[in-house]
Amino acid sequence: MKKILVIEDEDSIRSNLLEMLSVGGFEAIGAENGQVGVHLARLEHPDIILCDIMMPLLDGYGVLSALQQDALTSTIPVICLTAKSERSDLRKAMEMGASDYLTKPFTRVELLKAISTQLDKLDKIKRIQNTAVSEAISHLNDLVYYDSLTNLPNRLVLQDRFEQALAPVWATHTVPVAVLSLDQFDRLHSSLGTDYTDLLLQAVQERISPCIGTNGTVARLNSDQLALILPPILDKQEASGEAVLILNSLSTAFSLQKYQVFITGSLGISLYPSDGNDIDSLLKAASTAMKVAKQKGGNCYQVYNRELQEKSYDCLMLELELHTCLEKNQLQVYYQPQVDTKTGKIVAAEALCRWYHPEKGFIPPSEFIPIAEQTGLITYLDRCILQNVCQQLKIWRNAGYDLSIAVNLSAAQFQQANLTQQILDILKATAVDPQWLEFELTETAVVQNQETAKTTLQELKAAGLNLALDDFGTGYSSLSYLQNFPFDSIKIDRSFINNLSQNSKNTAIINAIIQLARSLNLKSIAEGVETQAQQDFIRQCGCDLMQGYWFSPPVTAAAFEEMLKQQQYGTLKPIANY
Ligand code: C2E
Ligand code: CA
Ligand code: CA
Repeated sequence: MKKILVIEDEDSIRSNLLEMLSVGGFEAIGAENGQVGVHLARLEHPDIILCDIMMPLLDGYGVLSALQQDALTSTIPVICLTAKSERSDLRKAMEMGASDYLTKPFTRVELLKAISTQLDKLDKIKRIQNTAVSEAISHLNDLVYYDSLTNLPNRLVLQDRFEQALAPVWATHTVPVAVLSLDQFDRLHSSLGTDYTDLLLQAVQERISPCIGTNGTVARLNSDQLALILPPILDKQEASGEAVLILNSLSTAFSLQKYQVFITGSLGISLYPSDGNDIDSLLKAASTAMKVAKQKGGNCYQVYNRELQEKSYDCLMLELELHTCLEKNQLQVYYQPQVDTKTGKIVAAEALCRWYHPEKGFIPPSEFIPIAEQTGLITYLDRCILQNVCQQLKIWRNAGYDLSIAVNLSAAQFQQANLTQQILDILKATAVDPQWLEFELTETAVVQNQETAKTTLQELKAAGLNLALDDFGTGYSSLSYLQNFPFDSIKIDRSFINNLSQNSKNTAIINAIIQLARSLNLKSIAEGVETQAQQDFIRQCGCDLMQGYWFSPPVTAAAFEEMLKQQQYGTLKPIANY
């Protein structure tokens, strides 16, 4: 049912309109003034808005201007209602983005005709947009579903394949999922280089494929790991037999052009349904088991069991210390500039947390964030960081720097029931305007529970916050769901930017992502820009923002402020060769 929002201050006219619309088969909602109208437009995202021009407080022009400023509402057609028939007023409304107008009093037929014209137009635009978007998506899917170097499907495909494998046998069979890591990979990589290790991975896949048959899948997880979905089995013991077969298949030398290479693998196996119901949890369990196989010296397999999950002593210590670290406020927030591709100016920063341990020194977020996530400390950590960032942001805004800051939101934090309220409380306490903040979320966080995610994202959006999809292109899910979530920007994962020069396919991917972002009205941000060549390429693609070591690594608040100051006085070194 199409949803129509009526913004009209006169009660009798509003209720009359609402009734006409409900009788006409629409879901009609009313707003008694302009402010409520704008709020409801953001919250309810109606198909069409009917808006009176003459209203106290916020009049129709004010509403039009507020709707235009928000990407979420700027495309909703607005039909202005006016008692005036003065052309200049109507022209002003049309210039401000109104799609049509009705002069009061109007008949029911005139009203429904105006609505149906707008709906037809909307339908046409949607159809054109959908075609453009599905073309971009299918192009992108082709590009990102297959790893260009090894021609292996990558992790994006795994979810589909897992569901296909499961469909006929889910009630009767066990499905093993495995992670294979090559034991001597780092040594081979440093002596032979990436070209050879890619060839090697391809050769390993060719050896393994016959062992798992056509019912199995091999995909590339990362530079030295493969993920395998093994054919369904009836007896769990059969998994061990398959593991031996796979490891044995690696035992003879690999010929890589002029080199003869011997390798072994560490294999971790998890089983559906006992170790998980979805591919994410199964891969996680298989990966835990693989690490144990590696600790045993490699060239062996390990089937996952719950005891493996018990934390190692080191991990436990780190967890205890993380408590202290948070209590004593030992975490620091670093800021990495985001640069406008057109002007070369710093317009935003990503906040990244740092932990300097009194004895162990610097502990990277990649080590302590997973522990914080496992133990639930992450929600507390994310909150501390947000508070810290908001205080800092307020100081910078007060000093006159026109700046917004992006904050990472972990999946665990994202699933908290009262997240929006918590965030709003912090914003209120620090007097920070929500439009200066952007939250970065990964696909994984969003796809875990799509319905709740959608509601939470809409709440955050309605509160005026900006939302970015982080690490775009590395997730599991289909890209088409992007259309259904109210993101403002996507951050192209640095793996695409990283090997730009060696891999012309990545240039096609980046172009396709930027094109996709455009057709969905999203801003694009390139991460991990490290060289002049990468910067030039990204600029030429029309990406909106760039971030990476080429401009600056993440730095302390003081060092970042120094950069802002120098930029303001025009003395910032032209790091980016603009
Ligand atoms: P991310 O959100 O993808 O953050 C970008 C990472 O890329 C940062 O790593 C940054 O230092 C690094 N980076 C930036 N430019 C370049 C470049 O040119 N080349 C390379 N190779 N790397 C670059 P960092 O700070 O180690 O953070 C790692 C991850 O930890 C982040 O990935 C994010 O997922 C997580 N993280 C960091 N801070 C927070 C936080 O405050 N809260 C939460 N929930 N997660 C955080
Ligand atoms: Ca991020
Ligand atoms: Ca990222």
